[in-house]
Amino acid sequence: MKYLFGPVPSRRLGISLGVDLVPLKVCSLNCIYCEVGRTTNLTTERREYSPVSEVIQELAGYLSQQPDLDFVTFSGQGEPTLNSGLGQVIDFIKDNYPHYKVAVITNGTLFWDQEVRREVLRADVLLPSLDAVSESVFLRLNRPSPHLKIDQIIAGLIELRKEFSGKIYLEIFFVPHLNDIESELVLLKENVRKINPDLIQLNTLDRPGTENWVKPLSRKRLEEIAQFFQPLPVEIISSPETRKKIQSFQQDIENQILDTIQRRPATDKDLSEILNLHLNELNKYLGKLLDDNKVECIEQERGIFFKIKRPINH
Ligand code: SF4
Repeated sequence: MKYLFGPVPSRRLGISLGVDLVPLKVCSLNCIYCEVGRTTNLTTERREYSPVSEVIQELAGYLSQQPDLDFVTFSGQGEPTLNSGLGQVIDFIKDNYPHYKVAVITNGTLFWDQEVRREVLRADVLLPSLDAVSESVFLRLNRPSPHLKIDQIIAGLIELRKEFSGKIYLEIFFVPHLNDIESELVLLKENVRKINPDLIQLNTLDRPGTENWVKPLSRKRLEEIAQFFQPLPVEIISSPETRKKIQSFQQDIENQILDTIQRRPATDKDLSEILNLHLNELNKYLGKLLDDNKVECIEQERGIFFKIKRPINH
C-alpha cells in the first residue's frame, strides 16, 4: 500500500488505519520535536501532493474488505490539510463507508482558510495542535513557514469550533523551558478557553525528535500543568503502559526490527525501507521497544540509530 498504513494501535484513537496524503516531508511547520524528521518542503501551498484518485482507489480496495477499525485517520509524514483533495477523500469514505469514523490529525495551522474548514466538516474527530501562543515561542518551537502568523492560526481554530459539530481534541506538545514556562502557560490557557475544544491532550517526547537536544517533560511536570489547566477538560496522553495493553501490536514486526538491528544499528528511515513499513507505523513499534528497554538510541553523523540494548553484566 502506498498511501495507507497500519492499522496501527494509536494512543488516542484505538485501532486506526492511517491515510497519508503528503510525501515525506511536506509540512507548514518544522517542529523541533517532530518524529518524522526535518521538513524538506516548508509550505502553506495546498496542492494534490499525493494524487487523490490513487488514494481513493487504495482506500476502496482496503475498506471493501470490511476491516475491523476504530478510525480511518488522516496523518502521516507531513500535514494532511496541505493536500487540496482532503475533502474529496473524506467525502468518499463518508459516502461509501459511513460506518467508519474519520479522524484528522493536523498541526491546525490552516483553519483560517475557510475552504480547509469546509473540507473537514464531515470528519468525526479533529485533532489539531497548538503548542504556543506567543510569536517568539511559536517561532522557536514550531519553526513555521514565514506565511504563518500565530494570531491568525488561533483565530482559525476558534472559527473551526463554531462550524464543526464533531469532537475536537486539541494537543499541546511540551518541550521543557520553551512552552512550559509560566507566561506561556497563562497564554495557552486563555486561548484554549477561547477555542473551546472537547478535550485538551498534553503530550511530550516519546522517542528522539528532529533535534536531539529536545528532552521530554517529566510526568510530574505534565501533571502540574494538567492541574493548571483545570477546570478545562484536560488529560495527559496515555502512558506507555496503556499502549502496551493494545493487543494489535504484532510480535513478529517487533522481532523483525530486533533481528535487523541485531545485525547492524539502523535509523528509523533505514528500518522503514528494509521492512517496508510506513514511518508512522514503525515509530509505534520503536516507541514500545524503547519503553521496554529493549533498544537504545545512538547519535551518529547520519542521524539517530537504533541498536539492541545489551544487559549490563555485573
Ligand atoms: S510534528 Fe507535525 S506539524 Fe510538526 S513538523 Fe512534524 S509533521 Fe509537521
